[in-house]
Amino acid sequence: MSKWVYGFGAGQSEGSAAMRDLLGGKGANLAEMSQLGLPVPPGFIITTEVCTHFYAHDRQYPPGLNEEADAALRKVEEAVGAGFGDPKRPLLVSVRSGAPVSMPGMMDTVLNLGLNDQTVEGLAALSGDRRFAYDSYRRFIQMYGDVVLGIDHYLFEDELEEVKLNGGRQLDTELTADDLEGLVGVYKRIVAERTGAQFPQTAKDQLWGAIGAVFGSWMTPRAVTYRRLHAIGEGMGTAVNVQAMVFGNRGETSATGVAFTRDPSTGEKRYYGEFLVNAQGEDVVAGIRTPQPLTLAMKRSNGSALPAMEEVMPEAYAELAEVFDRLERHYREMQDIEFTVQEGRLWILQTRSGKRTTQAALKIAVDMAEEGLIDQDQAVRRIDPASLDQLLHPMLDPDAKKEVIARGLPASPGAVSGKIVFNADEAERQAAKGEAVILVRLETSPEDIHGMHAAKGILTSRGGMTSHAAVVARGMGKPCICAAAGLAIDSRNGRMTVGSRVMEAGETITIDGSAGTVMLGAVPTIDPKLSGDFATLMGWADQRRRLKIRTNADTPTDARTARRFGAEGIGLCRTEHMFFDDERILAVRQMILAGDADGRRAALAKILPMQRQDFIELFEIMVGLPVTIRLLDPPLHEFLPHEPEEIELVARASGVDAAALTRRAGELREVNPMLGLRGCRLGILFPEIYEMQARAIFEATIAVAQSTGRSVVPEIMVPLIGTARELELIKAEIDAIAKEVMSETSGVLEYQVGTMIEVPRAALCAGPIAEHAQFFSFGTNDLTQMALGLSRDDSAKFLEHYLERKIYEADPFSTLDVEGVGELVEMACQRGRAVRGDIKLGICGEHGGDPKAIAFCEQVGLDYVSCSPYRVPIARLAAAQAALAAKRSEAPAA
Ligand code: PEP
Ligand code: MG
Repeated sequence: MSKWVYGFGAGQSEGSAAMRDLLGGKGANLAEMSQLGLPVPPGFIITTEVCTHFYAHDRQYPPGLNEEADAALRKVEEAVGAGFGDPKRPLLVSVRSGAPVSMPGMMDTVLNLGLNDQTVEGLAALSGDRRFAYDSYRRFIQMYGDVVLGIDHYLFEDELEEVKLNGGRQLDTELTADDLEGLVGVYKRIVAERTGAQFPQTAKDQLWGAIGAVFGSWMTPRAVTYRRLHAIGEGMGTAVNVQAMVFGNRGETSATGVAFTRDPSTGEKRYYGEFLVNAQGEDVVAGIRTPQPLTLAMKRSNGSALPAMEEVMPEAYAELAEVFDRLERHYREMQDIEFTVQEGRLWILQTRSGKRTTQAALKIAVDMAEEGLIDQDQAVRRIDPASLDQLLHPMLDPDAKKEVIARGLPASPGAVSGKIVFNADEAERQAAKGEAVILVRLETSPEDIHGMHAAKGILTSRGGMTSHAAVVARGMGKPCICAAAGLAIDSRNGRMTVGSRVMEAGETITIDGSAGTVMLGAVPTIDPKLSGDFATLMGWADQRRRLKIRTNADTPTDARTARRFGAEGIGLCRTEHMFFDDERILAVRQMILAGDADGRRAALAKILPMQRQDFIELFEIMVGLPVTIRLLDPPLHEFLPHEPEEIELVARASGVDAAALTRRAGELREVNPMLGLRGCRLGILFPEIYEMQARAIFEATIAVAQSTGRSVVPEIMVPLIGTARELELIKAEIDAIAKEVMSETSGVLEYQVGTMIEVPRAALCAGPIAEHAQFFSFGTNDLTQMALGLSRDDSAKFLEHYLERKIYEADPFSTLDVEGVGELVEMACQRGRAVRGDIKLGICGEHGGDPKAIAFCEQVGLDYVSCSPYRVPIARLAAAQAALAAKRSEAPAA
């Protein structure tokens, strides 16, 4: 029989950190901390299996749950020495969600549960503080009303403001016990009016109401959206944590706070956090009161005027610091900790591995490896390759002129410019039109997630470093500034005031999330430096990977960027991309539209020197490294002139009649160009095109070998091969040109000829094709298109629907369809190797930069992956992780 409930507290625990799937992240860590003997308020966890059961059985709980929960509750009562619903010594609990994967802000929390008209008096008598008791009660009704009963929280807040106004009170803390008691009456009336029922007065009813709300919130649209955006499975469910309350709002010796064991922005080894005296947990994250710094060092570096915890509560702080060290050593990972001090006594409410910027993640991994807390393999495994993207993007050009209009907290690094938008929907609309936007909000909430995703950056006027905006933006890797001082936002009228300046929606600003500065207009940015911890970790990754990493680059700029990022050659140079600039397109159109081979040759003669120069530049940048050049592969429609003026221009340059040319263009137009006269078919029909390209490559090879004194070995790649005979014919032409160039220049040429495998037939017939190919490079873009019969250009429109219906797990054009396309790749590798044992194998479709596909490439034993320049570091790290995973699975079981 299943066990549905796990208890913890008072130095004991039925669970542990290893039971994360069952107990959720929060629950598993509470259980673990209890076992370690840390001061954790006692409680119990209702497992994720209950959530799964709940949804599988029409929202019914499994039999036996009630009894198990009752028994666990009794143990908590014993540990605390109080009774749930006992009017004299009431036990109060918190109820929180906790999924196996952290979902910040997605699920809800109820505090102070167990209060009713009787127990509130018991609490008042026990604590000797009526004000505290009624403040707790009104908070409870408000939270329960909002989270469990679905009553808008502003209805309660408006009443609170009303009471403050009528009583002439400025701050919440100035409200008297009588004020609060009056407010409780008003709140209960709101509940009765809105729900048609009285606020539940039985502690048990309250408890099951809250538990049901936690399970219910698993399927709220915002939770569903979050999971979809983060590829988190629906099936895992959430656990519910029920835990005895401790109070940070019991006067000046009480406090509540959140802290990281290292700086989550920079990774520096120093405690980092915020706290509030005389407050409850939600006050810190809600961003309504400005939190105080934890340490003196933080106070100094932030220039905060508020006293640090280290000063005002030195004993609790010292104990907390000890807990930080203990937890970090235990988990060997930076921790994010929630704590409460109740009348001088420290309680730990939560620990989890802390979210951090990528920069911080690198520093922490490198530092921990150097401190001996983890080894280098673990450090390499710890960094999410995709997250490196954050580092590779631009920062402010230090020499650029900037007009700083506001400053706030540097909540998430990176610099970006965009147009101001004031709400999430507008952000999404503008982004869909291709606009770069900065989402400007008072503060953000989970309802804003879609807008945060669409925006390039986020700016808020409230909230701390742990506010929703800060945490979520860091997770998304977007620049974010919180609590920008002097920023007044009037989103209803679409404007904000910064000092004396009024800015409207649509105006451009730049934010620098590393410095916390907001600037007027678009400030130029520069590429980041790739040294320090990044270089160290990438060095460790490079020592561990087997796969070589090349880049897809068609221009010198791309090639240089890729080199800086550590590319070990070019895996795909798409030569058609070289033909689009104004100077060349005319000659290319002349070539395509020429009626015969002579006409084509005349046009090609104009292109040859330009093409040769292209290759010289690439070879020089990549000297000593392999460069794969793909011969022309244009679906012809991409080059054909459309407008009459364009046709006129080509006609004049070629000395032919525009009408004849229009006719010729008409003949060449295809209904299905992707399956038409493209790739090697072009080379078969018009051999002079590939002859020109081969000549340009060979002449450039000889020129660069002479100028640099180093040998260049070009790899000539033929696209869209479907049959061995196609490759045989084209290879013969290439070899003939090589001979010609050698005899013309008396130089010696070393080169390879290979093919892309991007037509399913080529994968099936890889054996015979390998007789003519020294290498294969998998063009998984076309291979996916043709294997799935799914247009690369048009399928996005309906793919979304396919993804929602789970027909495909992920977009097959960005995540390799290992089951289908992967099978073709694997088969082609085997068949190719069977014929040519030393055949070189690589991948150059978009999947070459996808960590999951890279893991697959490691498994099937490719020699290299090739990806766009900005993904090169991602690929280096992913390849190292793939190699480490392979090493692990090979190791004999201990
Ligand atoms: C491919 O098809 O995967 C490929 C790399 O070529 P292209 O994207 O240029 O068609
Ligand atoms: Mg292709």
